[in-house]
Amino acid sequence: MSFKELIINAGSSSLKYQVFEMPEAKVLAKGIFEQIGTDCTFTHKVDKDGEEVKVLDKKSVEAKDHHDAITILLETLTDKETGVLESMNDISAVGHRVLHGGEEFSGSVVVTEDVKAAIRKCIPLGPLHNPANLMGIEVCEEIMKGIPQVAVFDTAFHQTIPDFAYMYALPYKYYLKHGIRRYGFHGTSHRYVSARATDFLMKKYPGKYNPDELKVVTCHLGNGSSITAVKGGKCIDTSMGLTPLDGFIMGSRCGAVDPTAITYIQAKENLSPSETDTMMNKKSGFLGISGVSSDMRDVENAAAEGNERAQLALDIFYYQLTKLIGSYTAALGGVDAICFTAGIGENGIGTREKICENLSYMGVKIDKGANNCRGKEVKISTADSSVEVYVI
Ligand code: ADP
Repeated sequence: MSFKELIINAGSSSLKYQVFEMPEAKVLAKGIFEQIGTDCTFTHKVDKDGEEVKVLDKKSVEAKDHHDAITILLETLTDKETGVLESMNDISAVGHRVLHGGEEFSGSVVVTEDVKAAIRKCIPLGPLHNPANLMGIEVCEEIMKGIPQVAVFDTAFHQTIPDFAYMYALPYKYYLKHGIRRYGFHGTSHRYVSARATDFLMKKYPGKYNPDELKVVTCHLGNGSSITAVKGGKCIDTSMGLTPLDGFIMGSRCGAVDPTAITYIQAKENLSPSETDTMMNKKSGFLGISGVSSDMRDVENAAAEGNERAQLALDIFYYQLTKLIGSYTAALGGVDAICFTAGIGENGIGTREKICENLSYMGVKIDKGANNCRGKEVKISTADSSVEVYVI
């Protein structure tokens, strides 16, 4: 039986959405409201015979808050010209992306008063996202009475990480008092990608793998990047930490550095805690090293034109990623599949080639012909590679 779901990702001043026809997971419509409350813009696309067509591109929308934006969204979705629904009641459930579920949630849940209270409890861990995510839920509850709301957490998939992998060796009291530990993010992506890889391997080589032992490393490489080690479908380690800043070099985030380097810069440059946060999150990474851009394409172009710092940013990225995949292979006790996903993972032909070549010591062999593609689900390792490599 087919049914429709609305998926919402509410940010502090934005709202992204998609309407899916299930169980095929066909995207019927998608779009984004930006700068809600100030100069709100609204872009809305619908599926027309398999093609994504932009049917609205409004530069000025009367949306003073998320309540207005969701009201406009529902009108748009049920409109004769721009809509994909007969009425709001065609929606069976609304899924809400929630950034931080702390230790409260290890899976998606139907929203209740207790769930909202628990999301509220996690606000100190996700101060920029959780309030907006919660607001999206509350507005939908109000406007779409009787339609189930489901919360889906970025952190939930990582709740199977064992304590020795999620604890930082700081005084234990800070874990008890403030919940300081590794949580991990991009969980929905890592869960989906590792499940796809498991599916491929089990179908392709019946009897070869024990599904409870299957070892997968997933590389989510976008503006924000993280990698995850998955054993038997369960996450055992991930590179992001208490916040999405940990791990390796990203578009404008620094990834892991000696913590004392930060307190040293803070003292020398007279930076406040919030200025320090901005420096680490917005001025570091590809942008901070290259001085060119936080966008991989710009950095690659500059490096190709001979910009040495752009080349350095790429070299740091390849090196840190190779090192992390190696350490996760050690943590897993081997690896059966490595997967690439997100903007750079799906489109970065050069990145995938470089990483696979760096991993040749473990028997990874790349099929350059198969790798010469963007945004497709494809196996890019050769038949005699000892590890399967996928773009998902
Ligand atoms: P976000 O974390 O914001 O969701 P995305 O997953 O969309 O980010 O990834 C954005 C990154 O993907 C950018 O660094 C962008 O340069 C990179 N990217 C997109 N297309 C390509 C491409 N053709 N080649 C290399 N990198 C690409």
